[in-house]
Amino acid sequence: MNPKLSNRVNEMATSATLAMAAKARELREEGKDIIGLSLGEPDFTVPEFVKEGAIQAIKDDYHTYTPVDGYGDLKKAIITKFKRDNDLTYTPAQIVVSTGAKQSLANLAMVLLNEGDEVLLPAPYWVSYADISKLAGGVPVEIPTTIESDFKVTPKALEAAITPKTKMIIYSSPCNPSGSVYSKEELRALADVLVNYPNIIVVSDEIYEHINFVGEHASMAAFEDMYDRTVVVNGVSKAYAMTGWRIGYIGGPEWIARACNKMQGQITSGANCIAQRATITALENPPSKIRYMVDAFKERRSLILNLLSEIPGFKTNEPEGAFYVFPDISYYFGKTLRGKKIENASDFSLYLLEEATVATVTGEAFGDSNCIRISYAASEAEIKEAMKRIKASLTA
Ligand code: PMP
Ligand code: GLU
Repeated sequence: MNPKLSNRVNEMATSATLAMAAKARELREEGKDIIGLSLGEPDFTVPEFVKEGAIQAIKDDYHTYTPVDGYGDLKKAIITKFKRDNDLTYTPAQIVVSTGAKQSLANLAMVLLNEGDEVLLPAPYWVSYADISKLAGGVPVEIPTTIESDFKVTPKALEAAITPKTKMIIYSSPCNPSGSVYSKEELRALADVLVNYPNIIVVSDEIYEHINFVGEHASMAAFEDMYDRTVVVNGVSKAYAMTGWRIGYIGGPEWIARACNKMQGQITSGANCIAQRATITALENPPSKIRYMVDAFKERRSLILNLLSEIPGFKTNEPEGAFYVFPDISYYFGKTLRGKKIENASDFSLYLLEEATVATVTGEAFGDSNCIRISYAASEAEIKEAMKRIKASLTA
């Protein structure tokens, strides 16, 4: 706490995913051999066809400020993508391109929340949802789930969490950090509750859409009775390995898109010109072009689940998408390992960093204090070595 800083930032938590990545980087600079399984970042490089789009944009002299809500032809590519992949119909006025999906989420919180508005977060949820909501004056309301139900929220639990102050629900499917994928039927059951509360806006974060090992991706926005109050958040960071290029986008009701455009116009202006041109190339190509990455993630999922099953005290389910496992490690709570007392998931994650030199993220940051998140967006060699080190640190 620094009294010279605003209450706003003093009350905000540091992003646990980014903090762990920074800590791992720091330790590596000190000469420690850290395996980083903390950051949700594909270890692939940007596909050649996307790079070509960026190179062409530089050659074509794209350099000026961009329209605040995105180039018209990028919006067109996004509209085509929504139709092709999700059977969703949008007009250009319903699309806003941002500097990453994180900014899309921040825009939504800033334009929709007033002081005290409640934001439902089925837990575990992505780390930044809670702090972004709080920054905008919202009050995060966690809805707990269990590993036995694949960390999915039930209609009953959803209904019980709704109050007259509920303004929004935010969830991701495929989910970061659990990897859970909601089927169309499961989403319909949640929609059946939400139709009775027409003032609640649904923020459906679909950034892991293509990293799905079980089949069809479903979206709440595809239900006719939910379309008018669902905002789909998506981006190119995960599927196209473009995390540093910083392009995200939304499709949603025009009044919300207009407000996001206004917000963004005062805070960042339009997103980077070269990255937007490259995103057109990315989205205009069929998702089959990036299938090789999804196939690799699927193999790594099997690998890590097998290796984790050989380590005592790790309870896992089978994640259906994204590139994370979210094991329950509460078995270790109250135990002392190598003289270090493990009281909670943060202690456990720190223990793994110090004793196994493997970086993970505590589940506390995601609203589940029994678990840790392990990203398997890493090479098979790294995954094997990391699991070997973890096992040795817990059994030796
Ligand atoms: N939503 C989820 C669920 C994520 O995991 C991430 C991670 N980056 C984001 C949003 C933000 O993505 P971006 O890189 O587009 O800001
Ligand atoms: N979303 C990724 C993660 O969860 C990247 C880090 C971040 O943006 O917080 O690790």
